[in-house]
Amino acid sequence: MPSSKTPSFELDKPACRFVRVILDDSGGRIFDYAVPEGVRVAPGSRVRVPVRMRTLLGTVLEVADESEVPGVRFVSEVLKSDAGMNPVLLKLASWMADYYCCPLETALRAVLPQVIRKSEMTHQQRQMVRLVRMPEEAVLAGLEKRAPLQLGALRMLEAQGGPMAVSELAKRSDASHAVVRALEKKGWVAVEAERVERDPSRHEHFVEAPALELNAEQALVFERVCAALEPRAEGVAAPKPFLLHGVTGSGKTEIYLQAIQKVLEQGRSAIMLVPEISLTPQTVERFKSRFSSTQHEVAVLHSHLSEGERHDEWHRIRSGRAKIVIGARSAVFAPLENLGLIVVDEEHEPSYKQEESPRYHGRDIAVLRASIERCAVLLGSATPSLESYHNVKLGKYELLSILARVDDKKMPFIRIIDMRMESKKQSPVISSKLLTALELRIARKEQSILFLNRRGFSTSMLCEKCGHVCQCPNCSVSLTFHRAANRIVCHICGHLALAPTKCPECKDPGIRQQGTGTERVEDVVQKIFPKAVVRRLDADVLQRKEAFRETLSAFRTGKIDVLVGTQMIAKGLHFPNVTLVGIINADLGLHIPDYRAGERTFQLLTQVAGRAGRGDVEGEVFVQSYTPFSPAIQFSRHHDFEGFWDQEIEFRQQWDYPPFTHLVLVSVRSEHQARAEFSAQTLARRLAEGLPEGVILGEASPAPLEKSHGQFRYHLTLRTKAIVRLSRHLKAVLAKLPFPEDVIVTVDVDAYQLM
Ligand code: ADP
Ligand code: ZN
Repeated sequence: MPSSKTPSFELDKPACRFVRVILDDSGGRIFDYAVPEGVRVAPGSRVRVPVRMRTLLGTVLEVADESEVPGVRFVSEVLKSDAGMNPVLLKLASWMADYYCCPLETALRAVLPQVIRKSEMTHQQRQMVRLVRMPEEAVLAGLEKRAPLQLGALRMLEAQGGPMAVSELAKRSDASHAVVRALEKKGWVAVEAERVERDPSRHEHFVEAPALELNAEQALVFERVCAALEPRAEGVAAPKPFLLHGVTGSGKTEIYLQAIQKVLEQGRSAIMLVPEISLTPQTVERFKSRFSSTQHEVAVLHSHLSEGERHDEWHRIRSGRAKIVIGARSAVFAPLENLGLIVVDEEHEPSYKQEESPRYHGRDIAVLRASIERCAVLLGSATPSLESYHNVKLGKYELLSILARVDDKKMPFIRIIDMRMESKKQSPVISSKLLTALELRIARKEQSILFLNRRGFSTSMLCEKCGHVCQCPNCSVSLTFHRAANRIVCHICGHLALAPTKCPECKDPGIRQQGTGTERVEDVVQKIFPKAVVRRLDADVLQRKEAFRETLSAFRTGKIDVLVGTQMIAKGLHFPNVTLVGIINADLGLHIPDYRAGERTFQLLTQVAGRAGRGDVEGEVFVQSYTPFSPAIQFSRHHDFEGFWDQEIEFRQQWDYPPFTHLVLVSVRSEHQARAEFSAQTLARRLAEGLPEGVILGEASPAPLEKSHGQFRYHLTLRTKAIVRLSRHLKAVLAKLPFPEDVIVTVDVDAYQLM
């Protein structure tokens, strides 16, 4: 007869496993918990765990058979698996914490968006409220006095004419959940749970756009990429990352589209990163049109999504319904499974670098993720970053190039205008040669783009008598005059004041505007060509939400003759009727204390010039400069990337700058100058003790932008080839140093923002 007693040897076996859990919003505290046998849990799982008298949410970092902690408690709940993070993303987060010298909790926050963490219990269900019966007017009049919030909610529902989410109603009418419950009790509204999903592109319709037949150069590139798309078994190394160097208008996007198509046919998924999604509407549209006819949904991730939309897109991806994700840098963390390809378009763009902790670089994370997932990664650019091109030379990346534009369209002809000669007359905004060229285009009904990377009317207000310049009270910069708003504005902190009519110091009326911004360019062109339609695109115009789309669409349909803009018109836009591009001041970004100044200028000039001559008529570009012989300007003139690269890489090597080292920028800020300075110097001394070998530590010194947002800033730079070792040293030193409360220290690994 079988015994019902449990054999005694089984009592010693653990009836559970153990997990290490990092708690949300707790300063990164990590605890062990037990999980009963049979409950599924894995690294990345989200759990609810007891902490003292409460329960908190957290993420499982590890699963183990044993725990050294005596008396561990059981987890309260393991959340549904589709609320968790896949193990690859967990790995990325822990890698970021080590590499970028940030707390693991901060890295996890980048990987699993806040809106998902907050709402994972309820993401499938939202409470909807429906109007059942509107009370009679007499009752409503009574409500007006006694319960105005109830009345407001009813009116809102009536106006809506259909069901509405309780949370939305609460937001729009100030009615709390208690108010809704009261209305429900009276039988005026019904509340029910419903699954809803918001689709941010529900109002859009896309015309189907079939694949184009690739030309010979494109086909060669495509073949190489396809070879890397074959799925790889575990243990087999990932294919080498590709760097696609293709001139502007060479058909790179078409290659991305076809490679992604191929990945989908294999039943796998793909991520397409673009620098700033709001500035690349044409790319998004091309993707949506291409895949509109297939069964594959495209998810779009960008910073303008509402919390609800972001939430839904995330779950659409996590559940496998969307297999293509297109988005800005954070889309590299899209929770896709079975990834076949990551594309990084315009891989040289600085906007891939996140300027708050974790200060990761989207392109670098893409390369890392691809290697973990053993999938292909394709970096594309007309002006590759020095880092990526260096990796080609080291044999780490494979170079693919397209040297000609589609259909052999000519590269635009670039003329450099020496403004030193022009200014002998009277420092004009637009040189006489550029004016003549503009006149010709306006007469021929062709379109022109004028580029200046500085908004506003003039860059500063200067008193001719006493020399006073209007300065920002919070930052060490002068205030920019914006004529349309009649304000002087700080471009760093946003401080604004009414534009003065006389000098605030000596009261002399001779206060003068100095320097040129886009607003002045627009004004000058319009005055010279009163009949032409001149429009402007910059951050000021963009304050109106639809302005970007409207202006671009007016430009595309030929309703605008001359478009004046900042760098937002430099990127990825394709206008066949543009035959002239004028660069108003090519020197703007050139003479600043940033070792990337030359590289950035070369890239910007090449990209802007690339907007010209994309149609049947050849394009022409005028570059105005006071330093016309700068290498960045001369090499871009000849479309000579290799030439530029050769001389720039030599300079970087000589000075031990990236890509030969990693540059770490430590910034120390305080409202009190002395404390910022003292803290920076103390930190420099402490870092010097036990500094890992091969690290070059600079002196603590005032930042180029000495004061910003009311804070004094000090910088310390470190350079090294072995970054993780340095990050560890930094973390250890920072953890031990007791900085005063008002001192803020940030660490930026592979920094871009050096001002
Ligand atoms: P890039 O991304 O390199 O700037 P695009 O992919 O935007 O270039 O291509 C530029 C233009 O050429 C687009 O209008 C695109 O539709 C067109 N194009 C690309 N490839 C082909 C092709 N193989 N045949 C015909 N037109 C093409
Ligand atoms: Zn300011």
